Amino acid sequence: MSNEVIQASPQTIAQIKKFYTKEAVTRNAPGVVFAAKTANASITVYKSGKVLFQGAGSGIEARRWGATTTPSTSTKSSKGDLLPDHLGSLSVIGSDETGTGDFFGPVTVAACFVPAHQIELVQELGVKDSKQLTDDYMRKIAPDLQQTLIHSVLTLPNDKYNDIQEKGYSQGKIKALLHNQALKHVLRKMDNEKPDYIVIDQFAERKTYYKYLQDEPIIITERVLLATKAEGLHVAVAAASIIARVAFLEEMDRLSHQAGRTLPKGAGPKVDEIAAKMIMSYGEDALRSFTKKHFANTEKAKKLLNKLRNT
Ligand code: MG
Repeated sequence: MSNEVIQASPQTIAQIKKFYTKEAVTRNAPGVVFAAKTANASITVYKSGKVLFQGAGSGIEARRWGATTTPSTSTKSSKGDLLPDHLGSLSVIGSDETGTGDFFGPVTVAACFVPAHQIELVQELGVKDSKQLTDDYMRKIAPDLQQTLIHSVLTLPNDKYNDIQEKGYSQGKIKALLHNQALKHVLRKMDNEKPDYIVIDQFAERKTYYKYLQDEPIIITERVLLATKAEGLHVAVAAASIIARVAFLEEMDRLSHQAGRTLPKGAGPKVDEIAAKMIMSYGEDALRSFTKKHFANTEKAKKLLNKLRNT
């Protein structure tokens, strides 16, 4: 059941009592000075001045009495937090990751701060919902974003990824650690400035996210919102997403150069084929520094290679 609480002045409480006179009910609970029941909400006024609104109509009833003391909520992402109104126009640190579904290449995470007064500038620089942008376009605009915005971008090299993955870290935990670290860096660079909110493009339930971080010395929790498809909610997340993507692409360039062949993105059949060739050229162990070795692609590539060798 949804509910809302407001702190009301004596004047407001007098108005509330008058307004709901006809719907008044008797409640003998401790501290209750007035109670009412409408068709879709229960209203309880406490001696302390707190007014509790319960039921489906609680939001509407609470707003009648200036429910702005609790963050007013309008949008809810599919599985994420309730989001404040006008989130898109506030000063926000956004964070996002990429590379998690790619066999070759690193996981990268970026966080960046876009203060309210720079939102237009960031849009001017070409930031849109990054899901609609091509890699080439993102490569073009990322340098300007990096120059303009306080940001942090982390690239987790593949051998390090494989080390911790083998120690039992799930991909979710790896992502959470990187997000937390990137946010920490950005907050540190901001000195005394505070964001209105921190928006993380959501990859885990809130509880799970913080469970992943439980052993961290510093855990960023204040004003954190988790929301899916957050690139569309604030340009800070879209910008972070672009910066993370370009860091991924640059590391892929470097790895491709090192491998002597273009390493494909994703985890499809082309990836298996190139992985088989990599094993042929450099041995299976080389996958440690080029791939996320625990993906099914490793086994598929080995099978492919056996087939090639047996024909
Ligand atoms: Mg994301």
